[in-house]
Amino acid sequence: MKFTILGCGSSVGVPWITGNWGNCNKKNKFNIRTRCSAFVKKGNLSILIDTSPDIKKQLLDNNIKNIDYVLYTHEHADQTSGIFELRPFFWKNKKQIKIFANKKTLKTLKEKHDYCFFGGQGYIPILKGNLIKKNFSLIKKTDKLNIRSFYVNHGKIKSTAYVIDKLAYISDTNGIFFKDFSKLRGLKYLIIDCLKFNPHPSHFNLEQAVKISRKVDAKKTILTNLHSDLDYTLLKSSLPKNIIPAYDGMVLNL
Ligand SMILES: [Zn+2]
Repeated sequence: MKFTILGCGSSVGVPWITGNWGNCNKKNKFNIRTRCSAFVKKGNLSILIDTSPDIKKQLLDNNIKNIDYVLYTHEHADQTSGIFELRPFFWKNKKQIKIFANKKTLKTLKEKHDYCFFGGQGYIPILKGNLIKKNFSLIKKTDKLNIRSFYVNHGKIKSTAYVIDKLAYISDTNGIFFKDFSKLRGLKYLIIDCLKFNPHPSHFNLEQAVKISRKVDAKKTILTNLHSDLDYTLLKSSLPKNIIPAYDGMVLNL
């Protein structure tokens, strides 16, 4: 299995649309961060996690030519607003793309992007919505991935954490429930929200992310959802060797 972090930026990315780089050194390409999305590949099976506003560029940059399934973490715009970019995959495969999301996310997506699910005005539905289960499998021919999901706090809402093989992806959270830490045992990679230095009501800051990393004790912790106050080189040099900042296009092999 190959896991690619397509984007590791906060909701505005780095640089911001205004050209603001915050504390990030603009000469370092690892500081160019698009919005959070990820891609999982096992054999012929291609799974996208979230459809960020940057999804078209992310897929082209990473030479991703097919999507079989989409998993959503939650309904926020930086995770979902690229959803209509999935249309060419439907045109290519002539098959509705199965998406998986929690109840609230699915409801929001169907309201905001109704044409993708219900068609209308000459368009046919391109997506089929499915509710996430705690444990489920995604299959394509002989390739299969078992996936575990659980809710984490994300400010006023819940977002979904995914455990795939020995990797956990938790891009947006400010709290993991005590009962769920047992699901994070024996991980090779923990990918976890680390928005900024200062505390935030819906994201982990650096101190909290490091604390979670110690508690989970994965072989490697990868910090994502990085805001413009976190410079890649400065952040990396301040961390122990088993905790590293993500960068766009980072590939993890399992
Ligand atoms: Zn969010």
